[in-house]
Amino acid sequence: MSALPPGSTIGILGGGQLGRMLSIAAARLGFKVHIYSDTSGPAFDVSAAHTLGPYEDIDRISAWAGEVDIVTYEFENVPLAAAAAAAAVKPVRPGARALEAAQDRLVEKRFVQSLGLAVAPFAPVDDMASLTAALESIGTPAVLKTRQLGYDGKGQARIATFEEAAAALDAIAQAPAILEGHVKFECEVSVLLTRGLDGTTASYDVPLNTHVNGILATSTVPGPLPEATARQAVEAAGRIAAALDYVGLIAVEMFYAGAGAAQPLIVNEFAPRVHNSGHWTLDACAVCQFENHIRAVAGWPIAATARHSDAVMTNLIGADVNDWPALAAESGACLHLYGKRDARSGRKMGHITRLTPMKM
Ligand code: AMP
Repeated sequence: MSALPPGSTIGILGGGQLGRMLSIAAARLGFKVHIYSDTSGPAFDVSAAHTLGPYEDIDRISAWAGEVDIVTYEFENVPLAAAAAAAAVKPVRPGARALEAAQDRLVEKRFVQSLGLAVAPFAPVDDMASLTAALESIGTPAVLKTRQLGYDGKGQARIATFEEAAAALDAIAQAPAILEGHVKFECEVSVLLTRGLDGTTASYDVPLNTHVNGILATSTVPGPLPEATARQAVEAAGRIAAALDYVGLIAVEMFYAGAGAAQPLIVNEFAPRVHNSGHWTLDACAVCQFENHIRAVAGWPIAATARHSDAVMTNLIGADVNDWPALAAESGACLHLYGKRDARSGRKMGHITRLTPMKM
């Protein structure tokens, strides 16, 4: 097991803002990055090379993989065939198991449950008959979620009463789905854990995450979890990572039901990649999630994850970014803009992290 030397090229599937921040972190360690993406994106501006091509073009992916030393990715919906084509040429980290589990909510839920971790009650739904059966066993309120390609609250329909079932199925275009019981939670948190090639792990402090319209709005550290619960959350994420033989940064989103709950922590989902709820690590830690992901996939030691400041990260969504002159003038605020031209509603345009000295 040898570490990839500086000067090597890291291939990243995906060219969005996560690829951009990964590229910057990789450059800091002396690596070059070659992006493969189906659309021109924010990562193109900061990487040494890019290939524009469809993820379905296996020959193109194989040729690209031939030009890099290792492959990683910045989004979990990389087609499995593309990942397999790359893996036939160069190591792909994290590996296929993580992608397979993260791409299908049913597989993901069963997998997490099989590790003895708490998840919301769930059942597969393929049609009205299975939805009716699922509602009978799980009850309402419930959430119907497509098994594949859901993100930022997309591909989801709330069901408050049985009468809403047919409309919910229509709202997700009758796609294969799971029904989840509605979890009564106090708040949402996420574990950002890096696992190295040698299996060592390091985790950042567990932030509190708030969402608006299904999109992450803020992540705050310190978060709300009592110390022992935070340890349990990290242990749960470590169990998931170990079972996947994971290499890189994994984000595990959880509901916190409160100190008095029978199950204080319920795993919602995980992302096999760097995560929006870890963007504060860029400014509040000596080594951020992006660098630790690069370190892990390159076989380098994982760096310390301790925080030197308290932080509130706020996403700049759509027109929020137009406030950049005022945000840039704020003292103690770290502004990150992704260089996207079109500030469409719901689009992540940048983020700002406001730092304050750590309270002892
Ligand atoms: P997801 O795409 O699964 O991350 O869901 C998006 C958001 O919907 C979550 O961050 C929660 O705020 C909410 N949500 C998802 N599933 C549930 C559930 N089973 N119970 C309550 N809220 C949920």
